[in-house]
Amino acid sequence: MTGARAPAGEFRDAFGRAPEVVARAPGRVEFIGNHTDYNGGTVLGGSIDRSVRVALALRTDGLRRFRSDRSDQFVELRAADGGKVSGGGSWVNYALGVLDSMRDFGVRAPGGFDFLATSDLPIGAGLSSSAAMELASGLAFLGATGQSLPRESLVGLCKQAENRFVGVPCGILDQAVSGFGRKDHLVLIDCRGPRFSTVPLPPGAHFWIFNTHTKHELVDGLYAARHRECMEAARALGVGLLADIGPAELARRMAASPVPHAERARHVVEEIARVDAAVAALKAGDLAATGPLLTASHRSSQSLFGNSTPELDFLVDALSAMPHVFGARLTGGGFGGAVMALTGPGFDAAMAEIPAGAFEKKFGARPDVLHLLTADGAEIVNRPM
Ligand code: ADP
Ligand code: MG
Repeated sequence: MTGARAPAGEFRDAFGRAPEVVARAPGRVEFIGNHTDYNGGTVLGGSIDRSVRVALALRTDGLRRFRSDRSDQFVELRAADGGKVSGGGSWVNYALGVLDSMRDFGVRAPGGFDFLATSDLPIGAGLSSSAAMELASGLAFLGATGQSLPRESLVGLCKQAENRFVGVPCGILDQAVSGFGRKDHLVLIDCRGPRFSTVPLPPGAHFWIFNTHTKHELVDGLYAARHRECMEAARALGVGLLADIGPAELARRMAASPVPHAERARHVVEEIARVDAAVAALKAGDLAATGPLLTASHRSSQSLFGNSTPELDFLVDALSAMPHVFGARLTGGGFGGAVMALTGPGFDAAMAEIPAGAFEKKFGARPDVLHLLTADGAEIVNRPM
């Protein structure tokens, strides 16, 4: 079984009865496609074998009782309450955001319920536990009320919940990969539609995550700066978004006259081409050709886009020189966070210890190491009535 174990027993311990529905939604890795989303480009992500599970049973008294395996406190609200929760119970805002968006997508939010979240997905490790919480909550709310939504709508609803209610301006990647993921596949997102499809992942592909727990103190401002630089470059190039220009045309334009933020533009435009190349290599079953594209993505982050850090570079340098490693790159927005290595099955925990130990020696703190495989996207696991 993938993901956290079915929480029916824990639900009974917490609420003294059986859940009516259990839903599971996985976290994700950003495989390749760095800062391409808001530039109208493409991105590849993988749904992973770590998930959030939500077990739920309706109540008739309008009370909403929330419980998570990460806290021993119940959060109790009335269905009529509005607004966000602050303090220790603020984790329920992801589920409240989903409830808040249901009407906009033509479905009815349940009134009262008992809600339990359990998870084997690390929080804040760049694996998108927040989107997993939203997708699992959304499916549980729909399942308990006998409703359903097309996947595109569920994904859009959960993204809206995070953007509008929680207030995090994330792109579509997190929710789409959790929603459309498939074991032994990656999810390809054309961010402009958005349009979603899956690409087979050749057998023997393994993911290793090295989470540095570092975060640039100015990360929000740096993210906003990159966004602005990309938009300014697109405007100067006379295109709506950088996805509208190819690498050869950009090179020609840069040779003819100076382009503002030319290095940022080059990173984005070439990254979109690398996503295309990765899709072709994956479709050909060629992990050995895919890996160097990941490492090239990282080098471009490092030298052109300025969203890497010495910690991330250290791990990529160490990993990309190791046997069984096809490629390695920062995963997520950068400015700290985690490095992902794509490896064959021969890479193991003892080998992962080599870069992790060297990192600890140099930077004085251990990265968390996680070994991941792909898994199916969000689903209703059972209705254990
Ligand atoms: P990421 O999505 O990268 O893991 P975020 O900061 O976007 O990091 O989301 C993490 C938040 O999601 C947590 O702070 C918490 O509020 C919520 N969350 C995720 N998993 C759980 C869980 N099992 N129980 C309670 N809250 C959770
Ligand atoms: Mg998140």
